[in-house]
Amino acid sequence: MKTGAMERKVGSAIIEIVQGDLTREDVDAIVNAANKTLLGGGGVDGAIHRAGGPAIIEECRKLHGCETGDAKITTGGKLAARHVIHTVGPVYRDGKHNEPQLLASCHRRSLEVAVEHGLKTVSFPAISCGVYGYPIPDAARIAVSTVEAFLKAHPTIERVRFVLFSKEVQAVFARALEALPDY
Ligand code: ADP
Repeated sequence: MKTGAMERKVGSAIIEIVQGDLTREDVDAIVNAANKTLLGGGGVDGAIHRAGGPAIIEECRKLHGCETGDAKITTGGKLAARHVIHTVGPVYRDGKHNEPQLLASCHRRSLEVAVEHGLKTVSFPAISCGVYGYPIPDAARIAVSTVEAFLKAHPTIERVRFVLFSKEVQAVFARALEALPDY
C-alpha cells in the first residue's frame, strides 16, 4: 500500500517518493542495494533474488562483482521490472571515508546505466540505509539531490521513484525532496 506519496517535477521528468515493496515495481529497472560480490545477500538484495528467481543470479555470476559506487545491469527475471541495476553502496563508518561521494556515485552510475540501455523508468530503494548503516536523513538528501541533478542533465529518463519499505523512511525521503531548492 502506498501512503503519503509525493512527487516533484524536474524538467519533464518526475521524482516520486512512495512507501512500498521494491520487488513489486512495474518499471524498466529496479535498483538493487547489492554487495560487492553481486552474489546475493540479505535485505532488499535477498528479496529481489527471491522474487526474481535464478536468472538474475546466473547473470550476476558472469559480472565478477562490482566496486562500491559502481552499477551493473542484469535481467529482471520473473520480476515485473524488466531489469535489475545492481549498485554497491558504501558501508557507513563516520562520514569521513568518502561515504557521501560513494553514495552519490551509486545513484549517478545507476542512472547512467539506465540511460545507456534506453530505460525511462527506474525505482530505487534506500541504498546503504539498512545493514550498511547510513544515517537516513543524510542518505535521503544525497539520493534526491543526486537524482535531481542527473535528471536535469539527462531528459531521456521520465520517472524515478524511491520505494521505501517503511513509513518512517518514506517520510524522511519526502522531507528531503521537499527541501530541495526551487530552480
Ligand atoms: P544496504 O546493505 O545497502 O544497507 P539493505 O537491504 O540492508 O541495504 O537496506 C536498504 C533499505 O532497503 C532499507 O531501508 C530496508 O528497509 C529496505 N528494504 C528491504 N527490503 C525492501 C523491499 N522489498 N522494498 C523496498 N525496500 C526494502
